[in-house]
Amino acid sequence: MAEELDVPESHPRYESLFTRHRIEEGVEKGITSKQGLIAEGRGEAFDYLLGERTIESADEAERVAAAHLLLADNPVLSVNGNVAALVPGEIVELAAATGADIEVNLFNRTDERMEAIDDHLREHGARNVKGLAGDGRIPGLDHERAKVDADGIGSADVVLVPLEDGDRAEALGEMGKTEIVIDLNPLSRSAQVAAVPIVDNVLRAVPNITVHARELADESDATLEAIVDGFDPDAALQAAEQAIRSGSPQ
Ligand code: ATP
Repeated sequence: MAEELDVPESHPRYESLFTRHRIEEGVEKGITSKQGLIAEGRGEAFDYLLGERTIESADEAERVAAAHLLLADNPVLSVNGNVAALVPGEIVELAAATGADIEVNLFNRTDERMEAIDDHLREHGARNVKGLAGDGRIPGLDHERAKVDADGIGSADVVLVPLEDGDRAEALGEMGKTEIVIDLNPLSRSAQVAAVPIVDNVLRAVPNITVHARELADESDATLEAIVDGFDPDAALQAAEQAIRSGSPQ
């Protein structure tokens, strides 16, 4: 990390400066949209209020997410411009640890950006990236926003959607998919409709789901199902809100 950004890792705002730097680079490379900059700012504000740490309830949700991905028949990790800029290698590692597919899924879809993200993920070790076919549809959304791959998100049973917009998160849920959402705002519609809301920074959440997936890899389906069944999404959202209200920003 350090060689990319001329700020020492000991700087109290290192992570936030590093994140901005990555998003800015993402925009320059044509990976991240300008709206992605605004989404980043909103996320940062919530991360500040959470104390820029993974709270206990988020760690639990990350373990549950790992169990869901391991149990799934067709798990898919959805990648947008911010996720591609922030955690490309970490997404590839999570896909390997859970047997999930990676699909590029953009709110503002353009062929140029789809291809730039596809290339960027491949540079970080991804072999089979979905999303370019766009031959499936999410019902209830307008044409461009509805596009997914029929054999990717279209037929997935479990989907990880970091930083998804609220409309699409709702529409995916209505398709009967188990949705795992990573979003720093516990009040966002995406977090509210998720089967597993993870209120954490994608920078911390994605590698931590991988750590849990590796730890759970040899567990029986019965053990994984017990982990999934014991999870209460409303309690997780409440715990995050509580942490924000009573938290200790650094
Ligand atoms: P809603 O879900 O309420 O419709 P929205 O679609 O308006 O929200 P956006 O403006 O697209 O949401 O913002 C993206 C969301 O991603 C915000 O809720 C923000 O908190 C969250 N976010 C931004 N950066 C990160 C990050 N690094 N990690 C996790 N979440 C983030």
